[in-house]
Amino acid sequence: MICIGVANQKGGVGKTTTAINVATALAATGWRVLLVDLDPQGNASTGLGVGQAQRSHSSYDLLTAQCSLADAVVPTKVPRLDLVPATVDLSGAEIELVEMDQRTHRLRNALAGAPGRWDICLIDCPPSLGLLTINAMVAADSLLVPLQCEFFALEGLSQLLQTIDRIRARFNPALAILGVALTMYDRRNNLTEQVAEDVRTCLGGVVFDTVIPRNVRLSEAPSHGVPALIYDHRCPGSEAYIALARELIGRLPPSARAA
Ligand code: ADP
Ligand code: MG
Repeated sequence: MICIGVANQKGGVGKTTTAINVATALAATGWRVLLVDLDPQGNASTGLGVGQAQRSHSSYDLLTAQCSLADAVVPTKVPRLDLVPATVDLSGAEIELVEMDQRTHRLRNALAGAPGRWDICLIDCPPSLGLLTINAMVAADSLLVPLQCEFFALEGLSQLLQTIDRIRARFNPALAILGVALTMYDRRNNLTEQVAEDVRTCLGGVVFDTVIPRNVRLSEAPSHGVPALIYDHRCPGSEAYIALARELIGRLPPSARAA
């Protein structure tokens, strides 16, 4: 199972929207997908229609070894897409984990518990660079970084890149940046265009060609408890996520691809 962390320490840049819709697009093309909701806000869980009643086991229990991966997983309405939901307990985990041994490797160890059941795992990270995101970076083969085209986008990115370097040096030398996805792209906005150009100049080929447009359908879907790709699979946002998933598959090692 290949593992991809969806990370950016800024909130509201499109991590969860990207995680849900890329996961759905991959599942639609035949991949068996596991999405781990690692944000105490649980937006990925809500967005996939997994309510509190279905969260008797969660990513918190998994990290604190109170349940197995098999116990923590719930199916979603999307065929081939399973979820480890998040609950608010997770907000205490940043502090509780500090005291635990293997504190940076707890997710990695937990995911090793079900080899072969999924082809790919996506981890929806919280908006911080604390122990939860570090657990995702230690567990991941690579990172998908959503970036909103706004003025401070690049500043936040340098902090993220520093953290990635530190994780590589200490825990996970093979951690790669699979790609940076420009989100909430608004062609009518000159600043968007300018920032996108700066980001491409600065980061080069790591930036995906596909950009995710600002599209109200993407923001409406979560309140219906389904991915945008199911809510309205022909809206510009859904079409962009299908294209992004295709581009992403092209960047994965051939051995990772589903049959
Ligand atoms: P994060 O997980 O990084 O905090 P979200 O994916 O939750 O970001 O997105 C933040 C908000 O913006 C949410 O309300 C979401 O529905 C909305 N949103 C995300 N991407 C888009 C987009 N491309 N167009 C319009 N709204 C979007
Ligand atoms: Mg989120």
